[in-house]
Parts: sequence; C-alpha cells; structure tokens
Amino acid sequence: MKKVLVTGGAGFLGSHLCERLLNEGNEVICLDNYFTGSKQNIIEFLDNPYFEMVRHDVTEPYYAEVDEIYNLACPASPVHYQYNPIKTIKTSVMGAINMLGLAKRVKARILQASTSEVYGDPAVHPQPESYWGNVNPIGLRSCYDEGKRCAETLFMDYHNQNGVDIKIVRIFNTYGPKMNPEDGRVVSNFIVQALKGEDITIFGDGTQTRSFQYVDDLIEGFCRMMASEKGFTGPVNLGNSGEFTMLELAENVLDLVGSKSQLKFMPLPQDDPKQRKPDSSLAYEKLNGWESKVKLRDGLEQTIAYFDKVLRS
Ligand code: NAD
Ligand code: UDP
Repeated sequence: MKKVLVTGGAGFLGSHLCERLLNEGNEVICLDNYFTGSKQNIIEFLDNPYFEMVRHDVTEPYYAEVDEIYNLACPASPVHYQYNPIKTIKTSVMGAINMLGLAKRVKARILQASTSEVYGDPAVHPQPESYWGNVNPIGLRSCYDEGKRCAETLFMDYHNQNGVDIKIVRIFNTYGPKMNPEDGRVVSNFIVQALKGEDITIFGDGTQTRSFQYVDDLIEGFCRMMASEKGFTGPVNLGNSGEFTMLELAENVLDLVGSKSQLKFMPLPQDDPKQRKPDSSLAYEKLNGWESKVKLRDGLEQTIAYFDKVLRS
C-alpha cells in the first residue's frame, strides 16, 4: 500500500484520481482549499479509513510522509482562474515550490498536472512536446499559462539540481462527470444549457477547435505516467486525437440531449487559442501504448447523464 497525496483532490480530475487510487488499495491524502472543488465530489470516500481530507492551501507549506504526490491544485476554467489572477499564479508557482520541497524532503515521486495551455495559441499543429509554444505573457490567460510554464521549469530544476523524481503531464481539454455545472468550460456549459433549454453560448464564430478527452482515459494516463521508468520525466501530452470545432461540439450535444436550444454568438475572449490537438506519439511510446480512446459522443452521453441527474436533484 502506498501513501499518496493528491492536491486539488476535491476538484473534477482530483476526485476521479482519488477514487482510482483508493480502488487500487492505496492510502490517499486529499488536500484542497475548495476554491473550485467541492465536498460533494469526495463525499463518497469520507467513511473510507484509507481516505483523509485536509483543508489546506498549497501556497502554504504542507508536510506529510508520502510516497507519491499528484499536484493538481489550481483552478482550470478560464472564468475561475481569471477571477483572481494573482492568486492563480501564486497557486501554480508557490504550490509547485511547496510540493517539490516536500517531495525532496520525503523522497516522494511527484507528478505535475500541466496543460496544453503551455502551447498558447499554437503556430505548430498538432502540438508535439518539443514545441515551445506561443504564449502572451501579459494577457488575461497569462496568470494560468505562465504559472503552469513556470511550474514546469521548477519541476525540471528540482530534478536537475536536487535529483527529485518528477513527472510532467500536459493535459488537453478533459471533460466528464463531476465537473462543476457552474465551471464555465465549454463542455459543461453546452450540456447544462442544452438540458435547461437555454441558448448555447458560442464564443466567436465557433470555428476554433479543441480535442476533447474523457476523464477515464486521462486518469489511466496519470497512473501510467506515475509508474513509468525512473528518469523519464516528460513532459508528455495526454489528450485525445479527435479535433472538433465548437459548432460541431454544440451540434453533438444538442443531438444527444434532444434539445431545441438556439445558438447564441458572443465575442471571442482575448487570446483564445484558434486550434489545439495533441501529438500523442510520445505517450504511446513511453506509457505502454497509452491512447485516449473514448469517442466524443460516448463520453458526452456519460456526462449528459451525470448533469441530468445533478440538475434534477
Ligand atoms: P478543478 O477546478 O475542478 O480542480 C482544481 C482543484 O484545485 C479544486 O478542487 C480547487 O478547489 C483546488 N485548488 C485551487 N487552488 C488551490 C489552492 N491554492 N490550494 C489548494 N487547492 C486548490 O479543475 P480540474 O479540471 O480538475 O483540473 C485539475 C488540474 O488539472 C489543474 O491543475 C488544471 O490546471 C489541470 N488541467 C486540467 C485540464 C482539464 O481539461 N480538466 C486541462 C489541463 C490542465
Ligand atoms: N467556449 C464557447 N462557449 C462557452 C465556453 C467556451 O464557445 O460557453 C469556447 C472558448 O472560447 C474556447 C473553447 O470553447 O474556444 C474551449 O473553452 P474552455 O474554456 O472549455 O477551455 P480552453 O479555452 O481553456 O481550451
């Protein structure tokens, strides 16, 4: 049995990861300040003696004897990370320093949840890990993008300077049950709007693209990366190779929900990337043939069923 610390464990991805780790017989410490996460996401684990919830902010040091750390704490939706940009960058940078310090002290392996946002508005398509990106350092998204880029730098520096056993994954847009209905990201917005019969808010002309990955595929990728050969640090992309415009996503959601919601076009937010799709060959090679397999419509069906239940209750 391993003792595993999951920061951001009460969030969307973190709660799925806690569940997987508990099911595999590990002891889990879930650390979260509940900024965007919720007790509801982890309530089912609270009576498990191998699960421990700690209300804590990663910008403050935290100490515990653990074998592995998954560092997920950070708001991920543009609406939430732009709410308090200084706090967002502190969370990424100071959170990384605090968790890397802990990993160094207790000799834990540590995985950083980085993001495809490190590629900014990419001029190379699809994006391989070797692409350095095209990020505006002073725009509305910079607190998140540059915070995550700096965290990657810190991970590499702790590895090179202090021999910390690090892993970096760059996550592409991931969706699924347990997303917050108020989250503001596109998949949850469209589904909630379609279920409520409200207008579907398309930002810009809807021709921008994203690759959407179902949460189960990502969690499998997390675990394979954590278990990967020592010395393989990444960064490695974890994303689905299907690429869809926001108009196509809206069509699929409306069709699956059977909704008559109308499309409402709204201004495109500043620095919104025009296209994004992972080159997943490194993950396939290094993580035993890992691929993001769940098809968009199948993943959407599961997610719609979840939101339908949440909205009814
Ligand atoms: P989320 O907002 O649901 O989860 C983030 C969690 O971190 C929440 O529970 C929140 O309360 C917690 N948190 C925020 N600031 C904190 C702080 N200072 N101290 C302690 N806890 C804090 O988002 P998510 O989609 O689950 O994302 C999890 C991680 O994965 C984030 O680091 C995010 O940047 C990364 N990521 C997610 C995606 C995606 O598509 N879901 C894509 C790229 C990267
Ligand atoms: N988007 C949209 N309507 C919404 C929310 C988002 O058209 O209600 C667009 C957004 O402009 C972006 C894409 O959907 O082009 C993905 O946005 P999201 O916030 O989910 O993630 P990110 O921009 O970080 O990839």
